[in-house]
Amino acid sequence: MQKIVILTGAGISAESGIRTFRDSGGLWEEHRVEDVATFDAWLNNPILVMDFYNQRRKQLLEVEPNAAHHALAKLEERFDVQIITQNVDDLHERAGSSKVLHLHGELKKARSTVDESLVYDVQGWELKFGDTCEKGSQLRPHIVWFGEAVPMIEPAAELSAEADIFIVIGTSLNVYPAAGLINYVPVSCMKYLVDPNASPLPGIRNLSIIREKAGTGVPELVEKLLAL
Ligand code: NAD
Repeated sequence: MQKIVILTGAGISAESGIRTFRDSGGLWEEHRVEDVATFDAWLNNPILVMDFYNQRRKQLLEVEPNAAHHALAKLEERFDVQIITQNVDDLHERAGSSKVLHLHGELKKARSTVDESLVYDVQGWELKFGDTCEKGSQLRPHIVWFGEAVPMIEPAAELSAEADIFIVIGTSLNVYPAAGLINYVPVSCMKYLVDPNASPLPGIRNLSIIREKAGTGVPELVEKLLAL
């Protein structure tokens, strides 16, 4: 079975109603990322950070996967499909994709502040001060904040190197190390980029750019791949 590896970003969830950074002038739901998505922000203003992620989690319960998420799940009928997402939402899983690697963490999970291997599901939308891990320390959102190490980047790079087909959807490719994954993909591998604002990727061979929204561009691409 051919292996398709797919790197997704905030743009794939835009049509579900979750805003991207880029389309909000570099802000995340009206906040500067430095104020809500860094470890310093958590130290300096934990109430704001906790509330920010609680609001994102609450919003996630109100939205649904869109046609792009569903189309990627359908690809599994014919291909070995591995999704690598920068998104912290769970819309790929809810659409039925079975292999999803989250590079930047997951909104619906929380983790210990003393032992990062202790990860828990958040029940409902609200994580509270006083919610603790089994070692008694406060839980924090299970998010890789800007400036923190990205522990899943190595397995993601290995998966990218195994791709027969590589698809990039809805990412500005501004956030590293995720944006560098395409450099691990074999040169001979066919690559697709679906993003209405896509720029050419210098030095990347065998690349087809589809300047469409994910909700239309991805189902069209999936139909084409299923018909190969
Ligand atoms: P980004 O905001 O930097 O870029 C979004 C990209 O999506 C842009 O290139 C834009 O042209 C494209 N886009 C907008 N609407 C689209 C559509 N309908 N279809 C296809 N593409 C569309 O996002 P990024 O590159 O993912 O990086 C931002 C970081 O922010 C990520 O690390 C992510 O963790 C975090 N984030 C996540 C979510 C989420 O989980 N849904 C939402 C916002 C931000």
